[in-house]
Amino acid sequence: MSHAMGAVRFPDGLILYYEYDGTSDFVISCLHDSKAEVSAEWRKHSPRVCTCPKMETVEIYADYGNGFSWVGLACRICRAVAGCSRHPFEIEWGEPDDFGLPRETPRELYNGIPDWWYPKRAKY
Ligand SMILES: [Zn+2]
Repeated sequence: MSHAMGAVRFPDGLILYYEYDGTSDFVISCLHDSKAEVSAEWRKHSPRVCTCPKMETVEIYADYGNGFSWVGLACRICRAVAGCSRHPFEIEWGEPDDFGLPRETPRELYNGIPDWWYPKRAKY
């Protein structure tokens, strides 16, 4: 019960989904097209790393506890979230993440559920 659904929203509105590990508080970095795909591999996901130069600044949401979101980096091509292998509260922006990738965006953490989550919140 300590894992939760998460989502990433790209600048053009594309939303991809991931599994959030609430026990250790980190994003399991592989992205999927739907919550159903995430659920199908629940607790079996492997972390994924972006290996191309197409990382984008995104909004990242975790539906854990009361929900929270922050700005981070993700790649729709590699289907990977970057810089999230530790709890977002603990991230010091500017230091490399656990994969050695730079964290380029300043951290701001927002409590609560972002508006864009609501219409897609239905079933998982
Ligand atoms: Zn990539």
